[in-house]
Amino acid sequence: VTILGLESSCDDTAAAIVRHCDGAAPEILSSVVLGQTDLHEAFGGVVPEIAARAHTEKLDLCVEQALADANVTLDQLDAIAVTAGPGLIGGVLAGVMLAKGLAAGTGLPLIGVNHLAGHALTPRLTDGASFPYLMLLVSGGHSQFLIAHGIDDFTRLGGTIDDAPGEAFDKTAKLLALPQPGGPSVEAEAKSGDPTRFSLPRPLLDRPGCDMSFSGLKTALLRERDRLVEAHGGLRVQDRADLCAGFQAAVTDVLAEKSRRALSEYIASNPFDPVFAVAGGVSANMQIRAALETVSKEFGARFLAPPLALCTDNAAMIAWAGIERLRAGLTDDMTLAARPRWPLDQQSPAMLGSGK
Ligand code: ATP
Ligand code: FE
Repeated sequence: VTILGLESSCDDTAAAIVRHCDGAAPEILSSVVLGQTDLHEAFGGVVPEIAARAHTEKLDLCVEQALADANVTLDQLDAIAVTAGPGLIGGVLAGVMLAKGLAAGTGLPLIGVNHLAGHALTPRLTDGASFPYLMLLVSGGHSQFLIAHGIDDFTRLGGTIDDAPGEAFDKTAKLLALPQPGGPSVEAEAKSGDPTRFSLPRPLLDRPGCDMSFSGLKTALLRERDRLVEAHGGLRVQDRADLCAGFQAAVTDVLAEKSRRALSEYIASNPFDPVFAVAGGVSANMQIRAALETVSKEFGARFLAPPLALCTDNAAMIAWAGIERLRAGLTDDMTLAARPRWPLDQQSPAMLGSGK
């Protein structure tokens, strides 16, 4: 099967073609991602109205490019998959409308995909992971431990009670006048920093369970920054690097320790060949990946982390989730709705509609 995937739930406009033939590994024939960072830069964050308009303007182009890169025509496709939520509603709507138009025009099945399921099923696309596996989904808007039992069946073990780590990286970058998205720029700065100079908090480590918190970290960082600015009339190069290194180390420690708790809970009921997978934009961070890999080893679990381009938002993961849903007979019709909120441990509209 060959599927076109569309993604427009945040500030990346993306289209991709993924093909999967029986007995072979899935192939990403093309994956086009057009970012919008430049459009939102002046506002210090993603502006929903601007994002929606940019998606509407760029989606057609993205699809044309994805088809051309893959050397595939519309009539060679088996279905159209699109992110139907969660996300900024204007952008999600833009994608869903285009997908409906394409499905109506070609007569192909339409498949609505949960963006988070796209991230969470990525280990199956990249490494052929089989169910069940333990998953840490860490992105711009989310941070949660999930047990993936099936394409539509996720149990949440715990997650952040306030900010997501990606959001914390972005806010840290903003506080330190570094470019957005914050993850890559903070990671780059941290390379020349001393992670031990500032003692930043590791929230909730004293509490049992897998819940996390990252907002206190940002407040502590702000305090240190203001102290430095007051003392020296501005941030010196080394101060900034040390703050970034300290922040990244704190996030890494929290994620690593909470992963230990999630792994021990998971392995207690799934002792055979346990797999721990990460996905989402923050899993592109090399220090975090290394720490999580070490934790996996402590527990004898196999560690899976997607290539960097498949950690952050892309449409290949949406096309892949579409392939999985098509195989399971879970297609949608023209009543497919764009959903601003759509928790992963809640059944999808197709499942609900079919009365299962
Ligand atoms: P969600 O998937 O929760 O709806 P999103 O789609 O905006 O949110 P992703 O695209 O998965 O999130 O991830 C983007 C986030 O990942 C941003 O907050 C960005 O700062 C962060 N990020 C990207 N690269 C890195 C990195 N190298 N280190 C840390 N964070 C990173
Ligand atoms: Fe995402």
